[in-house]
Amino acid sequence: MKITNEPLVLLRGARLIDPVAVTDEVGDLLVRGGRLERSEGPPPAGAKVLDLAGHVISPGFTDIHVHLREPGGEESETIASGCAAALSGGVTTMYAMANTNPVNDDPAVTSLIIERARAAGGLVRVFPVSAVSRGFLGEELVDFEAQVAAGAGAFSDDGVPVVSEDLMGRAMERAAALGSLVLSHAEDKTLAAGGAIREGEVSRSLGVPGIPAEAETRAVERDIATAERTGAPIHICHVSTAGSVRALRAARARGVPVTAETAPHYLVLTVEDLRGGDPHFKMNPPLGTEEDRLEVRRGLAEGVFDAIATDHAPHAAAKKSGGLAKAAFGIIGMETLLPMVMTGAVEEGLISLPRALALLTTGPASVMGWEPAGLGAGAAADLNVLDLETLWTIDVEAFASRSRNCPFDGREVRGRVRYTMVGDSLVDHEA
Ligand SMILES: [Zn+2]
Repeated sequence: MKITNEPLVLLRGARLIDPVAVTDEVGDLLVRGGRLERSEGPPPAGAKVLDLAGHVISPGFTDIHVHLREPGGEESETIASGCAAALSGGVTTMYAMANTNPVNDDPAVTSLIIERARAAGGLVRVFPVSAVSRGFLGEELVDFEAQVAAGAGAFSDDGVPVVSEDLMGRAMERAAALGSLVLSHAEDKTLAAGGAIREGEVSRSLGVPGIPAEAETRAVERDIATAERTGAPIHICHVSTAGSVRALRAARARGVPVTAETAPHYLVLTVEDLRGGDPHFKMNPPLGTEEDRLEVRRGLAEGVFDAIATDHAPHAAAKKSGGLAKAAFGIIGMETLLPMVMTGAVEEGLISLPRALALLTTGPASVMGWEPAGLGAGAAADLNVLDLETLWTIDVEAFASRSRNCPFDGREVRGRVRYTMVGDSLVDHEA
């Protein structure tokens, strides 16, 4: 990856898919001083020209569910390595979860994350996600106003869900009053406790403690009920069960203010992939059955989901060893986001390419209450040039992430980010 400063670049002949303007056309884009202009005719004097026939240009991707491990878990990921992994996957905006050490329940942690992301080059915009409760203890709300003032982009006790419905409802109302949002890791720990993979025939045959699907589905139903009771919006993270999809479908039809995301792995993998005992297929929520996978896909096609997020959860090798029962939950995902969405959903005809790109750009942004720059004239450059034709093989050793816990290593895929531009910085991913 090579990053250069380019005051004048002509991006010539690509298919421009802009989910902001809802346009899809072949054309030329000029980036002058970091801003977009439409261009026709010969390149202006002094312009660097990239001939991009056969490529697609989209806005930069937004990943609303990322775990950077800094502070406290730098052996797995730092803010700098996480930003490099993001950039490598075309993610130019991310939301970083609060389960660091210390937990991000204080504006000092929010500020530290923002400062270090800037120090790492500043090409990836990082919104720290504040904890909902102090210390993730589920007892006392953090100072919502102070966290928003410091730059927190949302609130979540991701990984340690808020047990009290009352506290959750108050958190949702306070976030809403500030124009912010609570992101729910929907998991009933009384059902999930001690489990490692989805409960069923595979968990029993491997002798590994199981997590029933209801651990997620019931928690999703509870969050929907809380949104209905309070009128305050809720966002459901990493949806994996058929029951959750059905509950979300019904809630949205009733007009409940609920948004939701799923992750690429729930579109392509199932609990059957765990038969070999590989901890790289262990994450939370756990991979479900084929019925779950198909219902998540149906939900995606129908518009039940607003966004695809990665739940990028880096773990150093030592934490991913010791067998299925002991290994940590989670997989990395930002560097395989585009190819897994392309291979797992677009190429199979589940969703169109423009819809897929919307789920990576305008969709997640609208969940968070803002609109991306898009590809229109005058916008600040924040875009990816995509090669969706060339077959390539995922190689975890080539990743920018500090961790290697990826279940897709060795897969032949399509969908590669060729260039990224943020302002006047041009990232050449193949140099
Ligand atoms: Zn989570």
